[in-house]
Amino acid sequence: MDNQGKERFAKLLHHRAAALQKGEPVAPPIVSATTFHLPEVAGASHVYGRMSMPTWEAVEAQLGILEDAPCVAFPSGMAAISAALMAVLTDRKRLIIPADGYYVTRVFSAEILAAYGVEVIEVPTAEMETTDVSGGAVVFLETPSNPGLECCDIALIAARVRAAGGLLIVDNTTMTPLLQRPLDLGADIVVAADTKAPGGHSDILFGHVATRDAGIEERVRNWRKLSGAVPGAFEAWLLHRGIETLEVRMERMCASAQTIAERLAAHPRVTNLRFPGLPTDPSHAIAKRQMSGFGFLIGFELASAESAEAFLAACPFVTQTTSFGGTHSAGERRARWGDPVAPGFIRLSVGVEPLEPLWGAIKTALDVTQ
Ligand SMILES: *Cc1c(COP(=O)(O)O)cnc(C)c1O
Repeated sequence: MDNQGKERFAKLLHHRAAALQKGEPVAPPIVSATTFHLPEVAGASHVYGRMSMPTWEAVEAQLGILEDAPCVAFPSGMAAISAALMAVLTDRKRLIIPADGYYVTRVFSAEILAAYGVEVIEVPTAEMETTDVSGGAVVFLETPSNPGLECCDIALIAARVRAAGGLLIVDNTTMTPLLQRPLDLGADIVVAADTKAPGGHSDILFGHVATRDAGIEERVRNWRKLSGAVPGAFEAWLLHRGIETLEVRMERMCASAQTIAERLAAHPRVTNLRFPGLPTDPSHAIAKRQMSGFGFLIGFELASAESAEAFLAACPFVTQTTSFGGTHSAGERRARWGDPVAPGFIRLSVGVEPLEPLWGAIKTALDVTQ
């Protein structure tokens, strides 16, 4: 993370305390009320739980400092993604999405948006920089992509999309605002699943939309209020708590991922390793330019589906689970979900375990299985 990011994070940790009156709780209260005292409507700070809630506001303030932009909280990453897309695909009817990105975004586009008359075009992340973005299209990027960890140049694509009268959305889930700042690079909207590293403890679904365009923000807030896709107070509170340690967790996770990627790359059983922090990685040059850290996700292949499953079963410090970004290292053979990857491809999410015991477990599992 750069110095500005560190300043932002220090500010984030104190944003609530800075406004406290004597005797008020330092942690935000969990306010789960659906209704608020309303003798008259004018001037009420809160009215009804689908419109606003104090505990979301605490987490939206925190996310707003992280993104340096107004943020709208949602009950999951997909709720945020669908809200952003529904808010902008009103007059615009052309949507370009990554062919190799998060599969639910593709399914949502194909099954729901297409049925509402949106033309959905899938483009591999590696070809996004040169793809035709004419016609005022909404372009949706994921960089590094999940699970292939392919990167593309956000600033370059933002300039092309803007020149063509389009609009750029970036799913920043794999990086978080600590490591990559799409709005600063020219994107109109950031969406993210805070279910992953920001929540960080594998116990909440959450998401947010960030934008500096007041008109888009208003449409997204209106979508939330009218569709009813509102987060719960307890989840908002857990995210607020999780984010407080995001920076220290990311520091450990990214440093461990760098070392583990280097060691995996040297292991004879590992092929097609992807980690943007390795100088040999096809995405290294662009990752170095636009990211201030290389993340905690590593992709690699073992010889077959069976050898990948055997490795995962044999490694006590890699939880076999879908999802990523939690305190525990986690691994998954992504082909089981139909992702366009080799049968023996594993997505490894590096957690906060001390490095050497974690690497020891990975190495032993690689050495004893075939
Ligand atoms: C997990 C994920 C999502 C969806 O988040 P949910 O909270 O599960 O709805 C979206 N985009 C990416 C890149 C993800 O990894």
